[in-house]
Amino acid sequence: MKVNEMKASEIQDMSKAYNLHSWSVQGPLKPKVMAKAEGVCFWDGDGKKYFDMSSQLVNLNIGHGNQKVIEAIKDQAEKLAFASPAFALDVRSLLAKRIIDMAPSNMGKVFFTLGGADANENAIKIARLFTGRNKIMSRYRSYHGATYGAANLTGEPRKYACEPGIPGFVKFFDPYVYRAPIDFETEEAATAYYIGQLREQIIYEGRNSVAAIFMESITGSNGVIIPPKGYMKGVRDLCDEFGIMMVCDEVMTGWGRTGKCFGVNNFDVEPDIITFAKGITCGYVPLGGTIVSKAIAKHFDDHFLSCGLTYSAHPIGCAAGLATLDVYEEGKLFDNANAMGAILGDLLETLKSKHACVGDVRYIGLFSAVELVKDKATKEALVPYDGDPDKLMPKINGMLSERGFSTYTHENCIIVAPPLIINEAELKEAMAIMDDVLTIVDETML
Ligand code: PLP
Repeated sequence: MKVNEMKASEIQDMSKAYNLHSWSVQGPLKPKVMAKAEGVCFWDGDGKKYFDMSSQLVNLNIGHGNQKVIEAIKDQAEKLAFASPAFALDVRSLLAKRIIDMAPSNMGKVFFTLGGADANENAIKIARLFTGRNKIMSRYRSYHGATYGAANLTGEPRKYACEPGIPGFVKFFDPYVYRAPIDFETEEAATAYYIGQLREQIIYEGRNSVAAIFMESITGSNGVIIPPKGYMKGVRDLCDEFGIMMVCDEVMTGWGRTGKCFGVNNFDVEPDIITFAKGITCGYVPLGGTIVSKAIAKHFDDHFLSCGLTYSAHPIGCAAGLATLDVYEEGKLFDNANAMGAILGDLLETLKSKHACVGDVRYIGLFSAVELVKDKATKEALVPYDGDPDKLMPKINGMLSERGFSTYTHENCIIVAPPLIINEAELKEAMAIMDDVLTIVDETML
């Protein structure tokens, strides 16, 4: 059997026989075959069409089949497919400069990686090298990647496989106001509570011992948790007070997903380090990176940067990155994320008021989550945090998929994060599917 000559059933059987699939018990899997993809849609091996309402893994911001990026990849492969990271190349220099120009004004240089986990691994090392400190703080409801260091940053159950864990990784609570232990009257009151708690925790850990605080600027997979007013500034102030590096993981929230270049741009705060991946190339080829402030970059003028990857700043990745940034700019896609995000927000609010199973909806730009509950008043989650004995969430995801709405669920949340190229008609058609499925949930699962 050869590429392009296999039937869908053969592809699926061989995949089951030889591929290990991520985050799954392998036996029951029936991996869907993707036969074709274009724009905001893809088609399976039987020719069935799906709206790609999670942009695959919230990375395919420009949608499928973008010819500009495809051409850039082909051209770079022809011209120079590989050179070790030590060489200066036009695409490497240009992409790094362009990223620095788009990043907050305090940012200085970029270390390129292949994806998000290794961007975070390198951020951990850089923060430790720069501060000479050891401890790293991050939040419980966070995902930062699956490699050992990144999994130790991660606070949710995907970290369990890497336990007992690396010493010096400390977790703190997220400003998850919907599920806060206190009914805060204002966002500012919530911020005061969470920042006060974090300050106390930093002191308990040792005021001179924390190298970095890692945060997704807006928590992604763990429920699109948007921090309350003033929270990010509060963390910035704590970092300044205690000499801690503020690291924003923008792997999911970067490159227009929230309607701004980086999620942190929504909060008028400049972190010390930003990590990114996903939307820089939208997965057409792998690329990620760690952006450091001018102060950190200067430190390494006369200190050894103990970081390296054979494929750091891969020429084809950098060429794809440059073309992707052109696509964002030429299509005004960040603006489209804002415009379509406003429509999505209204549709989500309607779902919340209509459906008994929708406890909360959270959204910013084209980044959103629908949080399902058994009971709106008590907020009891539809499935417990660390288990889903009746497999309700896979059932709900299956019903969405059967009707042509492709996404993923995490805990009791459904992620809705379509490509930034989506238009109003596509958005409304897809969200009507969600509406139908939530009606079934109301009627059969509560
Ligand atoms: N950080 C965040 C916020 C993510 O959402 C992810 C992946 O989903 C990662 C890091 C890890 O990125 P990768 O899968 O490219 O290693």
